[in-house]
Amino acid sequence: MTVGNLRNARLIINQEAIFNNVRNAVEKTQAGTDLFVVVKADGYGHGAIQVARMAEKAGAKGFCVALLEEGLALRHAGFTEPILVLGITEPAAAAIARDQRISLTVTSDEWLTTVAAILAQQPSQAKLAIHLAMDTGMGRIGFQKPAELKQAISTLTRFDKVFEFEGLFTHFSTADSKDDTYFNYQYENFQKMMAVVKQRPKYVHVANTATSMWHQVCGANMVRYGIATYGLNPSGREITETPYPLFPAMRFEAGLIHVKKIQKGRSIGYGATYQAKDDEWIGTVPVGYADGFPRKMQGFSVLVDGHFCPVVGRVCMDQFMIRLPKRYPVDTIVTIIGQSGSNQITVDDIADQLETINYEVICGFSERLQRKYV
Ligand SMILES: *Cc1c(COP(=O)(O)O)cnc(C)c1O
Repeated sequence: MTVGNLRNARLIINQEAIFNNVRNAVEKTQAGTDLFVVVKADGYGHGAIQVARMAEKAGAKGFCVALLEEGLALRHAGFTEPILVLGITEPAAAAIARDQRISLTVTSDEWLTTVAAILAQQPSQAKLAIHLAMDTGMGRIGFQKPAELKQAISTLTRFDKVFEFEGLFTHFSTADSKDDTYFNYQYENFQKMMAVVKQRPKYVHVANTATSMWHQVCGANMVRYGIATYGLNPSGREITETPYPLFPAMRFEAGLIHVKKIQKGRSIGYGATYQAKDDEWIGTVPVGYADGFPRKMQGFSVLVDGHFCPVVGRVCMDQFMIRLPKRYPVDTIVTIIGQSGSNQITVDDIADQLETINYEVICGFSERLQRKYV
């Protein structure tokens, strides 16, 4: 993907904010528990390598990714910490993980026997580190029954020349909710599963950001810390009290590339969906839906010189138009996320407009947008 390094539009990533978020979390994590920072999806759109560097400085002990490829990118950048792939990896790629010391998530006994056979063909001193996932109610991946888990553990033991049983984990689906009922149900299932585990592996982990902030879970010694690394609340607007302040790490700014006065009655954009009610000042911003600024942003207001300015007309692929309160010169800063004067726009404001969650907004900004690190 070609990056728009020369145009007047950028995501500005505040590295100090990331450092402080991770540092605060590390300080609140109980002794003996390791904080792994989740940098999947290019560090939730912030740049996985840059985020990992800050997280490492702030005391993170390892990293979680969704894809093996994302783990390899960290290894290639020189990170030596433990890395766990949270998704399911193709058996054919298992040897790559082993050779790069990347731990894999496993959810079926068949996967283990298949991979044991493959790895036997490519002998190595190194073992492939395995985390067994337990589906206690998320309904995504993982062993559902204690007996299945027990079987997988015995397979790991049988093939202990090729595998290292490194971790056991589960994932809560409602940890960001005020209602604890389903969380408690999952927690009970977790305890039933753990009852068949005779010897605990190195890591037992259950906590994403929300669980780490709002729940006490016994017996775990690792946290998969994601969204709050980036300064965002996992609960959106539902639970607003966090155990420590969060510093949003992403700003989104562009410069006006064209400013003009249009006469009353003239239209703006594809489909001529907006008509000027008066003579109006209109600014054009060099960002569009190909950058992850969706057409649904029509009607949202961005900030210019501290004033909210509505997005008028349809958002185009590479540009959108806004109504200005007066004439502003070309290159005047348009704030899409961040503070301008005494007003601000948060990622959650954009999530509300798009009827989604802050996670999807930050992951949705395309590679074409320049990331600038400050
Ligand atoms: C993405 C993910 C996380 C991180 O979740 P946050 O809500 O961002 O903290 C943790 N665990 C698993 C299994 C995940 O897929």
